[in-house]
Amino acid sequence: MPYITSKNILKYARDNHIAHGAFNVNSLIQAKAMIEACEELRTACIIQVAEPGLAFLGGNFDFLNGTLEQKKIGAKRIATYVKKLAENTFIPVSLHLDHGRSYESVKIAIDAGFNSVMIDGSSLPYEENVKLTKKVVSYAHKKGVSVEGELGVLAGTEDHVFSNTSTYTNPLTAIDFLKRTSADSLAISYGTKHGAVKGDNVKLRKEIVIATMENMLHENIDATIVSHGSSLVPQYIVNEINALGGNVKGHGIPLKQLQEVIPCGISKINIDTDIRLATTRNILEFFEKKPAKVKDSKIYPLLKEKPESFEYRYYLKEYINELVTNKITSNELKEILPCIINGVKEIVLTASVAFNSVGDATYIK
Ligand SMILES: [Zn+2]
Repeated sequence: MPYITSKNILKYARDNHIAHGAFNVNSLIQAKAMIEACEELRTACIIQVAEPGLAFLGGNFDFLNGTLEQKKIGAKRIATYVKKLAENTFIPVSLHLDHGRSYESVKIAIDAGFNSVMIDGSSLPYEENVKLTKKVVSYAHKKGVSVEGELGVLAGTEDHVFSNTSTYTNPLTAIDFLKRTSADSLAISYGTKHGAVKGDNVKLRKEIVIATMENMLHENIDATIVSHGSSLVPQYIVNEINALGGNVKGHGIPLKQLQEVIPCGISKINIDTDIRLATTRNILEFFEKKPAKVKDSKIYPLLKEKPESFEYRYYLKEYINELVTNKITSNELKEILPCIINGVKEIVLTASVAFNSVGDATYIK
């Protein structure tokens, strides 16, 4: 199946009132695991990497402070690898840049071979957001790459994105934005929140989704709406981590609310936190079952250093070079690998079933 832009996958989802999960990865092995999980469910696969992820893939474990040069290396690594995997699978595969922060970084991803990008100008004044998104669209569309913009500010944290309060997207502004920028999809703010701590009284405003979709129809705008900050933070995983000595707190978006809003017009749902949680639980469980492995471990001390954290890029940092080049030679990493792979699969499988995208691979052109 071809390597296709996310635009086609999202339009299929929109027209069939389902949503597609889009999952963040930071290593090649996770991208492969994601494709395998999607193959099992015969569903299209949207692999996402955020800018810090590109820096990590470029070999910098201080990924929040990555340079453009490191991101370029990381983008090339993941795009080359994913394209090759896409040639050998029957499901559609798309590689998407999540939260591109500047024209330069988006250009890096496109030039490396990503076929879908997000430009997040949501923290800019509106007119500047329009201008930046337009500039990205003009470069991306020439290369057949689809573009996601963002309007409204999501509360919470996620790889460089931070704000204290959530500002809902005005549907009329969304229409103006889509008209003027020709973006293919739009991330709106309707009550979701980045990170693991979403509070226990999340209330999604599906009226915003309905109003935006309705206005798009009237104005002949052929775009799709996407949902960020939508990790479910499964409580069974949080509980398992804490039973294994972790100290993670968090609440996700209630699945029932997400499932109610999907048929209203949410076509893509971004999931990042949940994979980190599942991976961390798996690794804690590995050491619990095999205490003899603790002694010479390079992972265990880092994992235990911050029981409230589940950032695998931190506790796997000693192995960054093997993870990003996929030349896995260390015994410890080899043994831990199933924990990483299964962490991705558990979340991709459960989310795809929950979002109703199972079996769509055959229908997406
Ligand atoms: Zn996001």
